[in-house]
Amino acid sequence: MAAPKYQAPRGTFDVLPKAARLRGRIERTAAAIFARAGYEPIATPSFEDTELFERGVGHSTDIVRKEMFTFEDKGGRSLTLRPEGTAPICRAYVEHGMRALAQPVKLSYLGPFFRHERPQAGRYRQFHQLGAEAIGTDSPLADAELIGLLAELLAELGVPGVELRLGSLGSLDTRRAYLEELKAHLRSHEAELSKEVRERIDANPLRAFDSDDEGTRAVMATAPKLVERLDGEDAEHFEAVRGLLDAAGVAYSIDPTLVRGLDYYTRTIFSFVCDRLGAQSEIGGGGRYDGLVEQLGGKATPAVGWAAGIERIMLALEDDEPAPGRDVFIAVAGEGHERRARALVLAGELRKAGLSAEVDLGGRGLKGQFKHADRIGARQVLILEEDGAQLHNMTSGEQRSVEAGNLIAEITRGEA
Ligand code: AMP
Repeated sequence: MAAPKYQAPRGTFDVLPKAARLRGRIERTAAAIFARAGYEPIATPSFEDTELFERGVGHSTDIVRKEMFTFEDKGGRSLTLRPEGTAPICRAYVEHGMRALAQPVKLSYLGPFFRHERPQAGRYRQFHQLGAEAIGTDSPLADAELIGLLAELLAELGVPGVELRLGSLGSLDTRRAYLEELKAHLRSHEAELSKEVRERIDANPLRAFDSDDEGTRAVMATAPKLVERLDGEDAEHFEAVRGLLDAAGVAYSIDPTLVRGLDYYTRTIFSFVCDRLGAQSEIGGGGRYDGLVEQLGGKATPAVGWAAGIERIMLALEDDEPAPGRDVFIAVAGEGHERRARALVLAGELRKAGLSAEVDLGGRGLKGQFKHADRIGARQVLILEEDGAQLHNMTSGEQRSVEAGNLIAEITRGEA
């Protein structure tokens, strides 16, 4: 068969009803967890001024250097389809004066994000994240609460093979001093590094920890680690987060090589990985970003948050949400527009009463209607006849006459 002329663009996909059912369950589970913990929903636009991401995410990151879908609007302004959700939420926090609200402001979100990455399983150019942020507190309690929420979400959904990795980047000052030390280490081993890492020693030395290159990995094995360089307060903060996770029974391992692809992180960073996902093994992650609000023009405001990839959760679950089935299909015996119109009105009434009801929209004969009712998983078929109605149970095959005035009660009884 020839390929269809129009296809979803590279790196994007259609969410067909079967997948949408699973996605619905993920979204509902997350919404309930967020609501119980007081993380209120927020939605920001799908695109923002390009500068927001350049400043927020960082000029030297892969996201800003290579992955943004940037375009000019008709007025010559540079806009970018959002590659992530935290910078826009901090922008909204400052723009709407949320500092005046009770702190921290706890928010949750869900929606599409865009990165021009090389598509592969679990990595797309349009993907969906759900996430949560607590803005306006530097308490380790917030770090622990947020990590606990993501752990709870993955557990409640039944995502298998999940592990939590935890690290700390320290404050910006600690990190600056450490980065100098790391750059010196990289320079003293320059010849052993991959070309990409060598070229970015100054721009982004931390990314060297992420490299797959064998030579680079050997150099990184002996590199100084940031968690070993934390100053008093940072070390205390990290210790407190760990203690709170221990107390809550959230299992984790410390990963001194953990880095994230966004520049705004300070102190706590974490990553939930799943062993069912292959190369793109991270299912969700985040951390503290105490400098971001100020970086975007607000007052210094500590904050922490995470995002999880909905498609990655779906891949890990490999689940089929069963089709919902229908309570009743209303079939019409014989010809007659009038009876078909009556079926449609009746379906409306049944739906108002909270039942799921469908009618034949395809002009089928009675036999065809039964076949269709079976295909869509109807549990009962109501057959409208010239002078009465019959209710047919699709499981038992039992059929009985029912009175027109008593249909809802009869159908509900048949459901039981
Ligand atoms: P990040 O915003 O980079 O911290 O990513 C947070 C989460 O979003 C990751 O753990 C993934 O689950 C998901 N994610 C990031 N990039 C992609 C992508 N290109 N395709 C699918 N999911 C992604």
